[in-house]
Formats: sequence, C-alpha cells, structure tokens
Amino acid sequence: MKSKKEASEILKILRNYYPDATCSLDFETPFQIVIAVMLSAQCTDERVNKTTPILFKKYGTPEKMSKADLKDLEEIIHPCGFYKNKAQNALACAKVLVEKYNSQVPETMEELITLPGIGRKSANVVMLEAFHNAQGVAVDTHAKRISNKIGFSSESDPQKIERDLLKQFKKEDWCDVNHLFVWHGRKTCIARNPKCSECPIKKYCDNCNK
Ligand code: SF4
Repeated sequence: MKSKKEASEILKILRNYYPDATCSLDFETPFQIVIAVMLSAQCTDERVNKTTPILFKKYGTPEKMSKADLKDLEEIIHPCGFYKNKAQNALACAKVLVEKYNSQVPETMEELITLPGIGRKSANVVMLEAFHNAQGVAVDTHAKRISNKIGFSSESDPQKIERDLLKQFKKEDWCDVNHLFVWHGRKTCIARNPKCSECPIKKYCDNCNK
C-alpha cells in the first residue's frame, strides 16, 4: 500500500494531467444513471451512450419502464450485450422503484444494492454521479488494474481493493479517485499496452520500480 502522502501526491498529479476527468456515461436523472450503469457492464460507455437516447426516449422514467414490453427492451438494449439479463434487470428495477420507492431512486448504498442489477460497484457510481455523495470507490477493471500496478492494493477481489483504497485516500478525494482512475486506465495505463514512458505517475508505480 502507499502512504497517505504518496496517495495525495499521485492524485494531485492525475488531477493536473486529466483536468476534464468526469463520468463518461450520459444521463439526466438518477433513474437514468441507474439504468446506464447497469447497461455498462461488459460494455463500453460509448456504446451505452448510443443506446440510452433511444431507450430513454421511450422509457426514461421508472413508471414508463415498469410497463415496458420485455421483448421491446431486449431489442433496444441488444447492442450493449447480455441484453436478456440487462433487459430483465432494468424492468425489474423499474418495478421495484415504482412499487417500493414511489418512483424515486433511493439515496443510500444499503437500499441501492437491493435493486435488481445493481451491485456495490454500480451503487458507488450512482451515489457519486446522481447524488454527489461518494460513499466509496467503484472498483471496475481500470481501478483494479491501476491499484494493483501502482501498489495501492495487492488484492484481486474488488471489495478488498476498495477497502485498501479507502484507507489511503481521504473521503473528500473519493470522487476524484473514481473519475481519475478510469481516465488513467483508458488513456495511459491501458490494459494491453500501458504507456509507461509517458505516464505522469511512473515514479510512484511499483510495476515500473521493482
Ligand atoms: S507506469 Fe505504466 S503500469 Fe504504472 S501506472 Fe503508469 S502506465 Fe500504468
């Protein structure tokens, strides 16, 4: 693990390097980010952003989606992959929101993770993006890889990696950690071909300083 001082220095460098880092999923309401994040599993945000305008035009609220025809949902969601599961979860989630939460997305992690298709990683994204209230770090494939390479965590289980990250970063920084790790993973620490020679945090990276 890194010291809190090192973690803070790394974050400062990444903030300067990626000043525009933010969520790359398009949405307008808490419900829409719930669905967008659900569709983004095993799919690129770019692909999700091409699908959600069509989906939300027809089914942009929990009420409308809860009454959707499953086959129609499957057809719209098809480009995002795993469309049968995702359509089922989207429909079930909308129904739970209508029936249990008065068509509002709940604002706690505990409630969010009870929604169909929403695990801890997705709930973290919703808390951050919809409610600007980071409750942790969403450990996706980028956050996992970067955490392991730099040396924030030697764990492979996302929940254990998150636990390690939360010890090293201050709570007020969790929001930026979420965005910056994803951007660093997409633009520099790319899975198959990391650009280590131009990486701004190379001197802190265990992978390059063994
Ligand atoms: S030095 Fe290379 S492996 Fe380490 S964080 Fe940078 S790009 Fe990734």
